[in-house]
This record gives sequence, C-alpha cells and structure tokens, in this order.
Amino acid sequence: MKYQVIARKFRPQTFEDVVGQSPIVRTLQNAIEMDRAGHAYLFCGPRGVGKTTTARLLAKALNCAEGPTSKPCNQCPSCQEITAGQSIDVLEIDAASNTGVDSIRELRENARYAPSRDRHKIFIIDEIHMLSTSAFNALLKILEEPPSHIAFIMATTERGKLPATILSRCQQFVFRTIPPAEIQEHLKSIAEQEGIRLGEGALDYVVKAAEGSMRDAQSLLDQIIAFGGQEITDEEVREVLGFIPSDILDRSTEALIARDSKALIEIVEIVVDQGLNLQQFVREFLSRIRDLLLAKLGIAEKILGTPEERKKIASDSKEFSEQDLIRFFDMLLRLENDLRWTSEPRFHLEVGCIKLAKVGQLRDIEEVIRELKNGEGPRTEPTPKTTRRARPAPEPEAPGRRAVEAPARKAEPDVPQPEIRSATESARPEAKTPKQAPKPTPAPPVRPSVEESPTPPRTAPPVSKPAVMVPAKSSLEERFRQKVEEKSPTTALYLERVETVREEEDRIVIEVAAKTVANSLASTEHKQILEAAASELLGKAISVSHIMKKASESATEVTSTTSLRESVKNEALVQSFLDVFRGDIKHVKGAEDSKKESGE
Ligand SMILES: [Zn+2]
Repeated sequence: MKYQVIARKFRPQTFEDVVGQSPIVRTLQNAIEMDRAGHAYLFCGPRGVGKTTTARLLAKALNCAEGPTSKPCNQCPSCQEITAGQSIDVLEIDAASNTGVDSIRELRENARYAPSRDRHKIFIIDEIHMLSTSAFNALLKILEEPPSHIAFIMATTERGKLPATILSRCQQFVFRTIPPAEIQEHLKSIAEQEGIRLGEGALDYVVKAAEGSMRDAQSLLDQIIAFGGQEITDEEVREVLGFIPSDILDRSTEALIARDSKALIEIVEIVVDQGLNLQQFVREFLSRIRDLLLAKLGIAEKILGTPEERKKIASDSKEFSEQDLIRFFDMLLRLENDLRWTSEPRFHLEVGCIKLAKVGQLRDIEEVIRELKNGEGPRTEPTPKTTRRARPAPEPEAPGRRAVEAPARKAEPDVPQPEIRSATESARPEAKTPKQAPKPTPAPPVRPSVEESPTPPRTAPPVSKPAVMVPAKSSLEERFRQKVEEKSPTTALYLERVETVREEEDRIVIEVAAKTVANSLASTEHKQILEAAASELLGKAISVSHIMKKASESATEVTSTTSLRESVKNEALVQSFLDVFRGDIKHVKGAEDSKKESGE
C-alpha cells in the first residue's frame, strides 16, 4: 500500500477523536441531536488545530445514512465518500485558489439544485478570508436566503478579514491551539501504533516546535521518522528540527552563572561554525531563561523536558536571582528582535552576550537597601575604597550606613522612630564635610554623646534593639525632623544637611549651609512635605522657609572641583553607595555654586 502521511492516516474519524477542541465538538453534537443544525458555520483558529477535520465530521453527521447523527457510522457510502473526499454532495473549495466572484457564482448555481443522493448539499470552504469583495457579496446573497438543503462550513485562520455581514450570518466557533500535553499524548499513541521508539525528550521537542498545531506536530513526526527510522534519539530529533544542541545551551547557562563573557563569545563561535541559526540560538536561550525562571518560582513541572533536564534546570536556577533572570529575559528578547534587521548578526550577538555577562553583576537595589537596613553592610568584595571608610571611629560607622536606609522606610513603616533618628543623628560626625567642619563643635565623636544624654522617650516608643535605641530630646527641631521622616525619608535625608530648624512667629525657618540642599528643599515636592509636617506639628497652617547660612561660615575649604569631589567622597552616605555600587564620582552638581560661595 502507498505510504500515507501521519496527519492523513490518523485524521480523526469520529467527534470523540478530535483532540483539544472538546467544547466545540460537544456543541456541534448537541445541535445535531436536538435537530438544531444551522446553515452556515464559521470555524476560526490557527493552522492545524482541526478546523477542516471537524468540518468533514460535521458533513458526515449531517449526511450519514443513519443520520443526522452525532455519531456518524463511517460505513455508509456517504460517510466513506466524505472520508475519501469524493462525495458529490459535499464540495470542498479552497478559497485561496478560487478568490474571484466567478467561482462563487458557480457555487450559487450549483447550490440551487437539490443534493443528488444525500440529505444536504454541503460546501466546505477553506481559507474563506481570501475571497474578493465581489465574491463575498455573491456569497452573502446565498447566505441571506439559503435553500433548506444547503449547509456552508467555512474555515479561516484570519477571522478579522471577513466582512461583518458574513460574520453575522454564521455560527462562529473559535478553535484554540492545542495544549502541549494533549499533542504529546496523541503523538505518543501514534508512535506506539506505528511501532516507533522515541527518546524521552524527542516528543517534547516535537511538541515545542509544533506550537499548538496538531498537523505541524504530525508532519514533524513524519520528518523525524524519515530521518531516524524506527528508533530515534533525542539529539537526532533536535538536529532534524533545527534545535540548538542541548550541550550548547547547557554551556551557555554555565557561562552565565560564571558571568564569563569570554566563554559566551566562544559559544557564539561554535554556533556560527556549526552553521546554526543565530536567531534560533537566541530564541532557545530565551526559552532556557524562561525555564530557569519557572524553576526559580517553584513551578518546574511546567518545563518541557526529561526529568533529568528539569532537575538540572532547577539546580541551575539557584545560581541566579529572580531579578537577574528577568533582566536576562528582557535583554535576550531585545537581542532576538535586533538580530532580525542587523547586517552583522554575529557581532550583535557577541556584544549582546557580553552585556548579559556584565548585567548579572548588578545588584537588586531593594536587596541592597534591605541589607543596609539590617546592619549587615553591603555584601561586596573589598575594594581599596573601603580602607578610607575605616577612618572614623567604629561606633558611628554602622549607624552611618544606616543613614542610607532612610529612603526605604516607606516599605517598613513599623520600624521604631527613635532608633532611626538617633542612628542618623549619630551619623553626622562621620558625614563631616569641609562645609560643616568650621561649626562650633568640630570634634566629631562629641556630638553623639550630646544626643545620647538620657531624656524621656518621645512619641512612638521603640520596641526592639534597645542597645541602639537612644532617647532623643523632644525639641521642636527634633519633632519636626521626625515628622518629616515619617512623611518622606528622602526629604528627611535632605533635612539632615540642614543646620538649624526654629520656629519664628507663624513660620518655621530652616537654616541651610549648602545651596544644593537649599535648592532641593525648595522644590515643590519637598516643600509640601515640610509644610505638611510643620502644620501637623503646630496644629495650624504654617509655612516653611529657608535661609542661607553666611557664606563665610561654610565651604571655606572648598576651593576646587577636585577637592569638592574628594570631600563629597568622604561623606558616609556617599561612601556607602560607592561601595555597594562600586562606583566613582564623576561629577558633583553644585560645584559652581560652592565655588561662588567661597569666593565671595
Ligand atoms: Zn454513515
């Protein structure tokens, strides 16, 4: 007997055999059983998901000698002729090759005559969206008043291209892509019936490549059987289907874990040398990252592949943070898109891979802030910079870092207030800058002890870490600072740099030394917070204004941009950031202002 392709050989012959479209099948069967079959059906959906198959089954159901029946016999001449595509009363028309109005006129002519033997004259029109406008109009004429013996079953992959007048006269059924598990199950049973032995992952690859289309899956199965015969290994399947060999993907993952850009470049070379498609490589790398992400989220069972592969991916996923993987995914997605138009895909891919390796070293800022908050200090390799940080007394050092945590406070509002207050307060000596240096109390360690003088606790008594807790004085200034911190840690950070805060009749005056700080606090965002805090504190609407401190008192040491940069670098807050992000200061804003101040 002549060889028959799998898709034809295993074409479903009963409604029950249709895979993955049970709601549609059930509806059609019910309609027939209740004698409510329509005259015009429209089956929409992607290629290879069972539209034509279902159309033929419906034709059989309508025309079976035993029917109309929801279970066509497949024995009577009508059923058998439909199966073979030879029924004179069931006409299959491919609209893609008969787009013109003439073919529809011919069809209309034909439709006028009664069926020659069967109950109905059925027209199955495939790719209906390909018809011309005049053809659609001709078709509409029949659909408006169809003879009772006529049934139209139309199929399309592009429902959007159909005129609304046609759509509104059809019963529409939307076919979905077939879930991978159902395709896999079906292929497995076909392989068994054909006596084909497939490797464990082979079907996974076929299912992956089929992208929800049963016909594609079956064609691919044909292809790999033609290549490998009765026994087919996973790697053979990969090769036939044009997948990137799994060891290349494994090596890519390992290189990414090691953040080894050199290794990634070598992998690109291998991909090029083996004549593999670069875009395909990126797509599969992307899919690997997706798998790692799923494993990271604890849903490894969603990953296609053998149990060993899943296990490997799960263990690899521990080497990445969720943020890393999301970032990798985004970058690869962009890279895949870029490769479409670039004239130098290899270079593009190489640079993309280097970026991937580098981006892995970025830290999640939330995580950094959390660490700083917990007083662990930034988790970075020691750099020469850290030696400078050892300069201040050890006591204020840790709290100095704590000052960095302030912006994150919104996330954890239940942290006791005084602790933060005193911590940031005691951080001040470390944050010594030339601007603050000439103040009346220049000795850095002295100031914390002033702050630590035991006074009754203010509002919001602390509940934890009594060792760090220092009751603070409840002066207006202190309460104001605290109020602001409650509202906005960022504003509070700027307020740190303010010299004094005092009440003056109906306003609060803050005295600022650095112009940059003054400018920031004058911005609408901060000003609103300051005024809201002041109003709440004093129980009435109140304005906040700032005055500049005398120039002679401040910034006397700042004479050049370089020394300004150095002085900023010595600030505890700045140092913490420099350490965590391993950065350097490129530019200090406000340098001009400071110079002017010192020059006056
Ligand atoms: Zn029959």
